[in-house]
Amino acid sequence: MPHIQLLSPRLANQIAAGEVVERPASVVKELVENALDAGASRVDIELEQGGVKLIRVRDDGFGIAESDLPLALSRHATSKILTLDDLEAVGTLGFRGEALASISSVSRLSLTSRTAEQEAAARVEVEGRDMDAKISPAAHPVGTTVEVRDLFFNTPARRKFLRTEKTEFNHVDESIRRQALSRFDAGFTLRHNQRVIQSLRPAESNIDKERRISSLCGQQFIDNAVVIEAEASGLRLWGWVALPTFSRSQADLQYFFVNGRVIRDKLVAHAVRQAYRDVLYNNRHPAFVLYLEVDPATVDVNVHPTKHEVRFRDGRLVHDFIFRTLHRALADVRPADHFRGAE
Ligand code: ADP
Ligand code: MG
Repeated sequence: MPHIQLLSPRLANQIAAGEVVERPASVVKELVENALDAGASRVDIELEQGGVKLIRVRDDGFGIAESDLPLALSRHATSKILTLDDLEAVGTLGFRGEALASISSVSRLSLTSRTAEQEAAARVEVEGRDMDAKISPAAHPVGTTVEVRDLFFNTPARRKFLRTEKTEFNHVDESIRRQALSRFDAGFTLRHNQRVIQSLRPAESNIDKERRISSLCGQQFIDNAVVIEAEASGLRLWGWVALPTFSRSQADLQYFFVNGRVIRDKLVAHAVRQAYRDVLYNNRHPAFVLYLEVDPATVDVNVHPTKHEVRFRDGRLVHDFIFRTLHRALADVRPADHFRGAE
């Protein structure tokens, strides 16, 4: 009969890493979310070899106090929530306190940070998560830099699932596209193997926002999009939806954010599909970049570790609001004969 034993913290973290750290793009997603949660106004991302060799994310956010550095890498350690009430109305992208613990258990990670109160920065380095992290003095402006090297160097089974440099890079690029669409007020740069791939300044005005969307989703999309802006029953929906004439053969230009978090949701997808039903052929897909803002207390984001899913308290209300708003917007612009032609 086998005896029951407690897993070592490292193995527990490696198991948890299986849920959130699938590939370089998942690391980038978590690190950029942390930067945005720290109030960063710019986030610089550097990759080598599609992120497999190196991912470096640097921000100008509020930083981490030196005394908190080891805790930042511990599992279930977070500065973002403390009570169940906090969880139920969470306004930050992170709250599980698992990302850095997971990532550091499957890579060589260093975290360098400085707060406004500190004279100097400090750095903590761990390799595949040895529990006693080394802390040393470092030079860094207020903000944080996280470096992740050699992802999955100690978990060959996971490393086997990595694809080519180009494929991994494309996944990172898509992840950054979502984050840059979610936070217009932050600037982003992306470098791959020393080449600047993307450089986006903070976008304040609507023109700047449309310029960013055009860099990320193409000028064609913006040229063919209708601006959405609606508010009812505590819900607000805004953004851009493409005219039916700009439909796509794949569902590859569909971004839906709930309180700044990109999500994939059946209910939302259904509402959008219904709104386009009369104007799109069955095998065509609409293109949209949409933002739904709701009271955080009416949506549960703690459904899945990657937080791509949400649960609305009043799903019916949300569904109908999205459907009605889009249906009306599309009805306003479509010429009557086009409408009849598609029937
Ligand atoms: P979570 O984001 O769910 O809290 P993480 O493991 O991603 O968990 O991060 C742990 C903690 O480390 C965060 O709660 C935060 O206090 C701190 N932290 C991580 N990255 C940053 C950053 N870029 N700037 C400031 N604090 C950070
Ligand atoms: Mg986080």
